[in-house]
Amino acid sequence: MFENLTDRMGQALRNLRGLGKISESNIAEALAEVRTALLSADVHFRVAREFCDRVKEQCLGQSVLASVSPGQMAIKIIHDELERLLGENSTQFSNVRPLKLMLVGLHGSGKTTSAAKLARLLKNRGNYKPALIACDVYRPAAIDQLEVLSGTVGAKFYCERDSKDVPAIAERGLKFATENFSDLIIFDTAGRLQIDENLIEEIKRLRERVQPDEILLVADSALGQEAVNVAKHFHDAVNLTGIILTKLDGDARGGAALSMKAITGVPIKFMGTGEKVEDFDVFHADRMAQRILGMGDVVSLVEKAQETIDQKEAERIAEKMKKADFDLEDFLSQLQQMKKMGPIGNIMKMMPGMSGIQVGEKEEKKMRQTEAIIQSMTKQERARPEILNGSRRARIAKGSGTKVSDVNALLKQFSQMRQMMKMLKSGKMKALMRGLGGKLPGLGGFGGKFPF
Ligand code: GDP
Ligand code: MG
Repeated sequence: MFENLTDRMGQALRNLRGLGKISESNIAEALAEVRTALLSADVHFRVAREFCDRVKEQCLGQSVLASVSPGQMAIKIIHDELERLLGENSTQFSNVRPLKLMLVGLHGSGKTTSAAKLARLLKNRGNYKPALIACDVYRPAAIDQLEVLSGTVGAKFYCERDSKDVPAIAERGLKFATENFSDLIIFDTAGRLQIDENLIEEIKRLRERVQPDEILLVADSALGQEAVNVAKHFHDAVNLTGIILTKLDGDARGGAALSMKAITGVPIKFMGTGEKVEDFDVFHADRMAQRILGMGDVVSLVEKAQETIDQKEAERIAEKMKKADFDLEDFLSQLQQMKKMGPIGNIMKMMPGMSGIQVGEKEEKKMRQTEAIIQSMTKQERARPEILNGSRRARIAKGSGTKVSDVNALLKQFSQMRQMMKMLKSGKMKALMRGLGGKLPGLGGFGGKFPF
């Protein structure tokens, strides 16, 4: 899988690794090689160009951590961008039960095989009771194939050999599955050699009738950019929720995997890596990026250095909180650390019991506003908020584009926080701070993400 790309990336990055200084010219040189590697992997040219632009911008703008070399930092940046390209955090998957999945795609892409593989995977790891419904009624052999596979993976099976009314079959299949207490119902549909109106119409009628939670496109990675075009068409027509990329075992280039998310906006959720039912897995962007770069040691080294910085900062603030001399400067630093972890909505989604809570733009906006208000204060004001009289408050409101009432509200909230700090025991506080720091240990709950 991706052997060619891994080789070429390795060559491109070898020189980068030991680099003691990043300059406009040497990063451009290294990135030209990265770009060639991507293009020869059949990555869409626009994707390759944007990738290199983003990496360059970050490399030049990045303040390098003391304990790693600039070259190592650059490799970490490339790794993270690669992960983003492959679809970082894209393994969000509906976790309702019963879960209804519809597999669509071209002829021979691997739909029927993937239906069985998916049933097996979710049965083993998610404790689902799967049922497979044969909706490819045009070839009797297709029904037989699914029946045999159902037996292999231990799934219930439903078909109607004398009917061609696909939506009606699907509906009765759904009834059959629920009566048999199945909580994972997979509809295996018919493909075509090419996308045509009839196929799309049939999929739409089927979708209307069974209301699937996910519509997954099964795409053959060997088709490279063509697979991406197919995905784009399907997505425009029926709104896909994800992609199963098959036959990665025979794909030395990786162009489809790398361009898919960027071009279509649809994440790859699963991958097929062989003909056997166990040759299948959740698609993990981070593991894939790691595999392509093959520089796990450098990546974890930089991560460690970054963590240490965050950890040190969290500890420093915890110490100040303990003494209750936490000031607005520290508050700002906290906000900025939280921001580094990504949109607050994503963080909330990871917390058990919080996934249902909507943290939307309003809260994000509020955080940005708070940041702006504190940034409009002088150092002295941040350290001693009690000196903030009416005219100072008016100046801050003006400077941060907010109202005096917003400034007042923030100061009130801050003073309550301080009050609380005085009351709380230091031990408790420290644990809390660690939670708010660089990481959120213990908060990585399932909530819609794969538990594996
Ligand atoms: P469908 O027409 O979309 O239902 O495709 P099938 O499920 O019948 O698969 C077509 C062929 O591709 C079969 O010979 C499968 O064994 C093969 N196939 C499917 N997925 C993979 C995969 O991930 N790797 C490999 N090597 N072969 C696969
Ligand atoms: Mg089939």
